[in-house]
Amino acid sequence: MVWRVVRPRIGREPPSSLPVIVLDPGHGGGDPGAIGPGGTYEKHVNLAIALAVAQILAGPTLPVLTRRTDTAMSLAERAGLANTRRATVFLSIHANGSEHPHASGTETFHYPGSIRGAALASLVQQRLVAIIGRVDRGVKAADFHVLRETHCPATLAEVAFLTNPEEARLLTDPRFQRRAGAALARAIVDYLRRR
Ligand SMILES: [Zn+2]
Repeated sequence: MVWRVVRPRIGREPPSSLPVIVLDPGHGGGDPGAIGPGGTYEKHVNLAIALAVAQILAGPTLPVLTRRTDTAMSLAERAGLANTRRATVFLSIHANGSEHPHASGTETFHYPGSIRGAALASLVQQRLVAIIGRVDRGVKAADFHVLRETHCPATLAEVAFLTNPEEARLLTDPRFQRRAGAALARAIVDYLRRR
């Protein structure tokens, strides 16, 4: 005899069952991050991209932003939010800075020795390079606070260089910000499927 388990039909899963994706726009408040040649602050670029990611991921996941406005937040608070919300994925979003204006391209970080972090970072880097088409600077390991102190797989993306005049123009363009956001959202969906 075969017993079939019949599950009650429910239209939507309760929100608590959705994977929580903590999106962390770097810097904020009195910390502008990198500053572009036109005086653009990295903190604003990071927030615009993070909001684009959140818009795409709302529905299949539960996106949670560490900040939704231009507010200061410590690194410990950012990692702490991911841990108290029991995040499935933590993604910190940055734009790069260099004293050399010709420095350009995309790079993504994970905590040294984190296998799941490296897998996540690699998907983020692949999708970003494929969709925004900047130079591939590779996936790198770094002992960053937000990567070390988060309990879930965590990655930090440096989308492009705000100190490079060409990339600064792109980073401040809302269409480019949405494309970068779409690439990051796609990478997270890829990661959730492959887990
Ligand atoms: Zn930054």
